[in-house]
Amino acid sequence: MRIYDVSMIIHGNMQVYKNKPEKKPVIKIQSTFPESSVHESTLSMNLHTGTHMDFSKHVTEGGKTSKTLDLNRLITKVKVLDLTHVKDGIGPEDLSSKGISTGDFVLFKTTNSFSDNFVPSFVYLSEEGARHLARIGVKGVGTDALGIERDQPGYPTHKTCFNNDIVIIEGLRLKNVPEGTFTMVALPLKIEDVEALPLSIVLLDNA
Ligand SMILES: [Zn+2]
Repeated sequence: MRIYDVSMIIHGNMQVYKNKPEKKPVIKIQSTFPESSVHESTLSMNLHTGTHMDFSKHVTEGGKTSKTLDLNRLITKVKVLDLTHVKDGIGPEDLSSKGISTGDFVLFKTTNSFSDNFVPSFVYLSEEGARHLARIGVKGVGTDALGIERDQPGYPTHKTCFNNDIVIIEGLRLKNVPEGTFTMVALPLKIEDVEALPLSIVLLDNA
C-alpha cells in the first residue's frame, strides 16, 4: 500500500491566500534551554492557512460550523481528477468526461499543485462547475488551491457547494498523486464551533 501525504507543510514562510501577511503562521518559541527546563513553541495561525476544510459560516452569516463535523465524510473513497490542462476556471466541460457519479468525493489535481508560491491566477472551480457537480450529487470536493473560488463576488462556488451539502477541502498538494481512486483519511484538529478546521490528509493506494 502506498501512502500519499497531501497536506501542506506549515511554516512561517509558506504560501498563503493572496500572500496576506496576517495569514502567515507564526511559530514562536515560548521557552527554551538553558533558561528554562523545557522547550515549548506556540503556533498562531488563520484557520484557512494550509490544508483545511470550510464550513458554511465562512461565507454565510449564521452558517454551519465545526459543530457539524462528521468524520464519515472525511474518511472515504475519493477520485483524484487530473485537470492539469485547465488554465482558469474548472467548468462542466472539464468534468463531464471524468466519469463522476452520485456520491463521489472528487479531488482536483491542477497546476496549483506544482507551485510552492501563491499564484494569483490559480485554477479554481467555477460556479457552473460547482452546479454541474451538485446536479450529479457529489458529496465532497477538494482543491489544490487555497481557495475553491477566485474573487467571485458573493462566493457562488462556496454557496453552491454548501447549499447542496458538499464538503469543501482547500490547500491539497497533489503533485505526486496520479489520477485514480484512493481511500482518503482526512483528520481535523478538533476545534469547537469555528468556520474552518486544519486537516492532515493522506491518500491510501489500496484499491
Ligand atoms: Zn477556507
